[in-house]
Amino acid sequence: MKNIFIAGASGAIGSACCKAFLDKGYRVTATYNKGDDRASELMAYAPEGLLKFVKADITSSEDVMRAFSEGIEFMGDIDTVVNCAGISFSGIIQDTDDKTLSRLVDINIKGAFYVCREAIGHMIGNQSGSIVNISSMWGEVGASCEVAYSMTKSAIIGLTKALAKEVGPSGIRVNCVTPGLIESKMNSCYTSEELATIVEETPLMRMGIGDDVAKAVLYLADSTSSFVTGQILGVNGGYVI
Ligand code: NAD
Repeated sequence: MKNIFIAGASGAIGSACCKAFLDKGYRVTATYNKGDDRASELMAYAPEGLLKFVKADITSSEDVMRAFSEGIEFMGDIDTVVNCAGISFSGIIQDTDDKTLSRLVDINIKGAFYVCREAIGHMIGNQSGSIVNISSMWGEVGASCEVAYSMTKSAIIGLTKALAKEVGPSGIRVNCVTPGLIESKMNSCYTSEELATIVEETPLMRMGIGDDVAKAVLYLADSTSSFVTGQILGVNGGYVI
C-alpha cells in the first residue's frame, strides 16, 4: 500500500487530492491549520484506518517535523508528499504591508521548504519517493495586484526545479502543478465581475475544480510518471499557454 502525506488537506485543492488518493487505495496523513469541518467531512468519507488528520502550522518547522513523525507512526512510511498549503493576497504593492508580506513568505515559501526538507529526510533512506508542490499560474506569468503572491508562487517553481536536480540521483522525483482559477474560498478576494473576466479569457471557458488539480497531482505522484521530474504542469484551462 502506498502512503501519502498531504499538507493543507482542508482546502479545496487539498481535500480533492485527499479524496482522489483515498479512492486509489492510498493511506493518507493529512495536515490542516484551520478547517475542522472539512477534516471531519473527509474522515467520514475515508475507509476505516486509511486517513489520519494532524493539525499543524506549516510556518513552524517543529510543527512540520511533528506532523511527519505522526504520519510515519500512522502509516509506517511515506512514499509521496503533496504540498497544498497556501494563502493568497490581493492588493497593489504599496498596500502590501510588512506583516502581510511576511505571512505570505512564511506560509507559501518557508512552509513549502520545511515540508520538502522533512520529506527528503524520510525518503532518502528509501532511495525513492515523489513530491508534488502546488504553485499557481501566477507564479509562471505574474498577476497585477498580486505581486507578493505571484512572487511566492514563483519561488515554489524554483524550489521544485532545484530540488529535483539535487535529489534525482537518490531516486526522488519533485514536480509542480500550477493551477489556474479553481473554485475555492481562496478566490473570495475577486469580485464576480473579475471572476467572469478570467473565465472569459480562459480557452476552456470555465473555472477549474479541485478534482481537476487532483488528477494532475495523482499522475505526478504515481509511478506512471516515473521518468518525469522537475516539471511544471499547468492545470489552467489554457489561460497560460
Ligand atoms: P484553500 O484556502 O481552500 O486551502 C488552503 C489550505 O492551506 C488549507 O488546508 C489551510 O488549512 C492550509 N493553510 C493555510 N495556512 C496554513 C498554515 N499556516 N499552516 C498549515 N496549513 C495552512 O486554498 P486552495 O484553493 O485549496 O489552494 C491550495 C493551494 O493551491 C495553495 O497553495 C494556492 O496558492 C494554490 N492555488 C490555488 C488556486 C485557486 O484558484 N484556488 C489557484 C492557483 C493555485
